[in-house]
Amino acid sequence: MIMPKIGEFELIDQIRKYATPATPSTIGIGDDCAVIPQRDGLDTLVSTDMLIEGTHFLKEDITPRQLGWKSAAVNISDIAAMGGKPIATFLSLALPKTLPETWVQEFMEGYRDISQKHCVALLGGDTTCSPDRICINVAVLGTCPSGSAKLRSAALPGDMVCVTGTLGDSAAGLKLILSNDKAASPQLVQKHYCPLPRVQEGLLLGSCPGVHAMMDISDGVGSDLRHILKESGVGAVIDTDSLPLSAELQSICREKGWDPKQLALSGGEDYELLFTMAPDEKPGIPYTVIGRITKDPALVWKGSSRDFDGYQCFKE
Ligand code: ADP
Ligand code: MG
Repeated sequence: MIMPKIGEFELIDQIRKYATPATPSTIGIGDDCAVIPQRDGLDTLVSTDMLIEGTHFLKEDITPRQLGWKSAAVNISDIAAMGGKPIATFLSLALPKTLPETWVQEFMEGYRDISQKHCVALLGGDTTCSPDRICINVAVLGTCPSGSAKLRSAALPGDMVCVTGTLGDSAAGLKLILSNDKAASPQLVQKHYCPLPRVQEGLLLGSCPGVHAMMDISDGVGSDLRHILKESGVGAVIDTDSLPLSAELQSICREKGWDPKQLALSGGEDYELLFTMAPDEKPGIPYTVIGRITKDPALVWKGSSRDFDGYQCFKE
């Protein structure tokens, strides 16, 4: 083990110290996307995400088509997280020589399906061979009106903490996959394999001045909300009895004796939007209020005696 005690976020903080500074109007490391101002009243949004066999997926469990979908989806989600419109992706693949040619064709069908759904062009990438495992990297570009990107650093005391959709479905789907029990709920398994990035919702939220901080939920609210709190210098009280839980999740949790709050807050990979909003804002989309932003920088879980964090690489 090269990095025994340090977590993913401490590691990023260390990398950040070496970053060559950008122009003052550019927003770099720390948000879901970098924000690069252009001259035409638009900002360019850029992000990149990697999927590694054995860390993010098991080749035997996910179909190439689902993996193609997911690789593009998790990147498009980072544009939605800024309130932006996704425009294009670049796809880099490192593949073992033993992979059948049909694997790439099926992978690209899934990648194309979601790209077409959101009118996102594939503009380039890189292809190389890997000694044994599949490595996928996608870079995504998007735009938003100048200065309108929703940052993690903009939460204000008194804001409501809100989420789109339901939480925990993907984590429950993963538990079923890992316990060889996919048949127990194909619906939850599908949520894990083929997340739906909240592009339309992100655009609407992006146009609301009362929506302050926003990000997408990739590691679980228990982890992701901490980024908003840290970057904004605020705290929050979250009511764990008000979490949006799907009927399917509640039913599987009853059947298996799983804790739905744990899955909803620490599970991750929901790719829903987590945002903070002034109480009088009306964003015109369905959402659930799960708590409030406070001046006191603590994170308090109401309705539960335990703490919740999320997934963090290297810390397992
Ligand atoms: P997300 O979950 O939205 O993809 P991450 O938690 O992966 O975001 O990353 C947090 C921030 O750190 C992002 O702004 C990302 O661009 C930046 N980041 C992560 N790894 C690196 C790296 N190796 N070099 C530079 N920036 C990085
Ligand atoms: Mg993100």
